[in-house]
Amino acid sequence: MVLTKRDVATVFDDGNVSLQFAKGLAGRRTGKSIGETTMPRQSDRNRKSSKGTMSEADTQSNCNSKYITHDLGWKLTAVKWGLSLAMCLVVGCYGAILAAFPVESFQNIKETIFQKMVDTPFGSKGGGLLVLFASPLLVLTLLAIINLEVSSRMVTFKEKAKGRASLQKHPLFIGGWMGIVSAAEFLWILLFLVMFTWIMGNYLIRDSRHFDVTSLKPVETVWSKKLKRTASHLGFFGLICLNFLFLPVSRGSVLLRALDIPFEHAVKYHIWLGYFMMTCFTLHGHFYIIAWYSEDSLSKIFNWAPHKVANFAGVIALLAGITMWVTSISWVRKRYFETFFWVHHLYIVFVFFMAFHVGGVLFNVAFCGIFLFVFDRFLRFCQSRGNVGVLTTKLLACGIFELTLIKPPGIKLHALNYIYLNIPEISKLEWHPFSVSSSPYDGDNWLKVLIKPSYGGWTHRLQGLVSDVVKRGRCPSNISAAVEGPYGHESDFFLQYETLVLVAGGIGISPFVAVLRDLLQRYQRQQSNLPSNVHLIWAVQKSEELQLLDLIPASAICPDYRLKFNLQIHAFVTRESSPISLECKPEAPASHLVDQFKKSRILASVSNAEAFNKPMSMVAGTGSNLWITSCFLASLLGYIVVYFSIYYFVVQPFEQESAGDGKPREGLPRWVKGLFNVISLILGVAIFGGFVASLWNYLGRLHQGLSEIGDENSRLLSISNTEDTVYANESADCLVHPSNTHFGQRPNLREIFDGCAKSQQPGANIGVLVCGPESLQISVAETCRAFNNIDYDLHKVAFSYHSLSFDL
Ligand SMILES: Cc1cc2nc3c(=O)[nH]c(=O)nc-3n(C[C@H](O)[C@H](O)[C@H](O)COP(=O)(O)OP(=O)(O)OC[C@H]3O[C@@H](n4cnc5c(N)ncnc54)[C@H](O)[C@@H]3O)c2cc1C
Repeated sequence: MVLTKRDVATVFDDGNVSLQFAKGLAGRRTGKSIGETTMPRQSDRNRKSSKGTMSEADTQSNCNSKYITHDLGWKLTAVKWGLSLAMCLVVGCYGAILAAFPVESFQNIKETIFQKMVDTPFGSKGGGLLVLFASPLLVLTLLAIINLEVSSRMVTFKEKAKGRASLQKHPLFIGGWMGIVSAAEFLWILLFLVMFTWIMGNYLIRDSRHFDVTSLKPVETVWSKKLKRTASHLGFFGLICLNFLFLPVSRGSVLLRALDIPFEHAVKYHIWLGYFMMTCFTLHGHFYIIAWYSEDSLSKIFNWAPHKVANFAGVIALLAGITMWVTSISWVRKRYFETFFWVHHLYIVFVFFMAFHVGGVLFNVAFCGIFLFVFDRFLRFCQSRGNVGVLTTKLLACGIFELTLIKPPGIKLHALNYIYLNIPEISKLEWHPFSVSSSPYDGDNWLKVLIKPSYGGWTHRLQGLVSDVVKRGRCPSNISAAVEGPYGHESDFFLQYETLVLVAGGIGISPFVAVLRDLLQRYQRQQSNLPSNVHLIWAVQKSEELQLLDLIPASAICPDYRLKFNLQIHAFVTRESSPISLECKPEAPASHLVDQFKKSRILASVSNAEAFNKPMSMVAGTGSNLWITSCFLASLLGYIVVYFSIYYFVVQPFEQESAGDGKPREGLPRWVKGLFNVISLILGVAIFGGFVASLWNYLGRLHQGLSEIGDENSRLLSISNTEDTVYANESADCLVHPSNTHFGQRPNLREIFDGCAKSQQPGANIGVLVCGPESLQISVAETCRAFNNIDYDLHKVAFSYHSLSFDL
């Protein structure tokens, strides 16, 4: 069931219109009725009285309340379906092009395309490769932006998930160097390997069919020639991989956003692709070296001839690639993250020398992936320049701290989002990801993050800074931050489950704090079709960490939440057999335990109203779709303009010039053309995209300044203070208490899942979200797999696995 935001605006905004509208919709909906959405006036009252909690969704709704556009929802659905179909078609076409490229019967079509580009500055082959390899991805990106925009105008009431877990949510292989691989991912891997085998097989068959012994040079043997050909095909396939390599690590990539694959999840696709690509390139290099060795011409490694392949540039690119490859293996990455991170910047060397090696023409095979990455990197650069205000700084007794950062309402937030944070006072270069622990319904102008310090690391240094601020009462505006994002899931997929199981380990609770706050806020707003059973399984090492859940003032957000949904908390303290201070008093009555729980909540908090003057920049890869499209098109245009300018002012005059002996020159060296290609790409994005980004920033700030309401800031501060009061209040009801806390043990997942399954109707699909250490993710994935495979027949209940990883 799909409504437009306008529909919902009407639904939420005005009691009379809502009722009228609800009648209109009543015939169209089944399940939980729209009555719950539109009803009752009580909700309006709540919302109007608690103006402080009006969120982006609400404010947008108010603007559009005059319109009742019942049919637009269906039109938008049709557009969305059409767009999704078009995207599938483009992906299909791209697959077909890749598969047909080495096939002999495709060569005529290929030549025709190349011929059509002969008079363009890209040249026949360069232009042809752009058409075949870059244009589908560019079209896909544009379709994805439009799709995102259409989705953002719709409020989708998804049918509740039922039946078996989809392939995407069923963990198939668990553990090993590939981590947790879902059934859908496994199918994609198979498809990729089939494509590789097909392309290489076709090339090898073609080579053996057309092998001409007379074309051998004196030093060449049949097998050395064949080895070199195989090497060049492997290199070509490596370039195809390179075209996709950067897509998963373009954090704000519209393609990832449209597919709802968050960056932290997509990183593993980058790793898999990178390993495969480097295998191809390493074999490519080594096959050439072996062939040259056999031909007694090993010195060719150092060749950098102007009009041939620059071998030595390839060697440098390969060495840079191998260094990145070695330092990215999980053992090194996890132990020496900083080393891995800085070494990975060799990608710049890799891309430049790769362009020198293959020249301007072949570079176009990988052009689009690199262009999209540079575009994303540029937007990240623009956003990260800003100085963001820290509204409140809270230090909890357990050492974990919470920062509230100012964001402009234009930046949309979702419960499962995260941001990248930089504190220049600690390091100008280090950026760390943190999950957002607040709901978008908590307020449009801020977001919160919870940070657990790790000893010796950046977070530890930030803890020092924060305690300095809080204890000495130093003004928190002295903590200047830079923020990038938000990134992560935009679909609020957890709402599609009737029953949710949230499994957290330690600070992995942070995204679930956001989920719980979000659910409470949605229940308070009388939204329909929400999960009605939520089980939170949370394992911590020390009981003091449990106070993190007290950051959810459940009763303050939704006073009768217990009547509205079934929230069950199962807390496990693994390294204590009882709350520490009561260890000597095993006979302590339950009421004492409760007191002990409450007393452990020590709060030190500082607020700073000046922070409102420093919101996050709205120039972000996940910002306004209209501006992103403008920036994207401007950057593309910029590339063409710079490329053409270089061609007409540098390349063409040089080629037309006579070399002095009456013959025209051979043209610029290949590697120089490769360099021009990369430079055009970077300048196009930086100058043209940069112009639009500056405009975006300027107009955004202007609009923000104009729309600022006089006492809005003090209102927000007062909400923040109220929350603190609730938090510090001894009588506030805690979500975690002795009766749902187990000491000295780990959660028995099987038992809890079994209990969950038994309480469900046959055919139920339970959403399982896990966030915590790798071992916990593996245990949860294994339990889901066991229930989906072995126990499904018993309970007829499926568990859909979703991981929110804190590992990159
Ligand atoms: C998507 C995501 C969301 C996260 N949300 C939270 C959160 O809400 N609260 C929280 O306390 N922690 C969160 N983390 C973990 C947090 O980013 C790391 O604990 C933090 O970066 C550690 O930095 P350090 O230098 O203090 O620790 P170190 O002791 O130097 O590193 C500990 C481990 O943290 C990881 N790490 C270190 N630096 C980085 C980096 N720049 N980028 C990514 N990982 C790094 C590495 O795996 C490393 O082995 C999240 C991580 C990710 C990927």
